[in-house]
Amino acid sequence: MGGKNVKNPGDEDVPGTKQTAENICPTCNGSGHLDERPCPDCGGNGRVTVIVGDA
Ligand SMILES: [Zn+2]
Repeated sequence: MGGKNVKNPGDEDVPGTKQTAENICPTCNGSGHLDERPCPDCGGNGRVTVIVGDA
């Protein structure tokens, strides 16, 4: 799965960045795969990193 700070297409920012949070991938609904293939948006982990923009 490569390094841990790899940004997947569905991620809004690199995991571990401040003011980000993990969310269920809307593309695969958290299953990590689409049609028996790894989800292209979350890289197959079922989660995406989103910017939460905490005030
Ligand atoms: Zn996904």
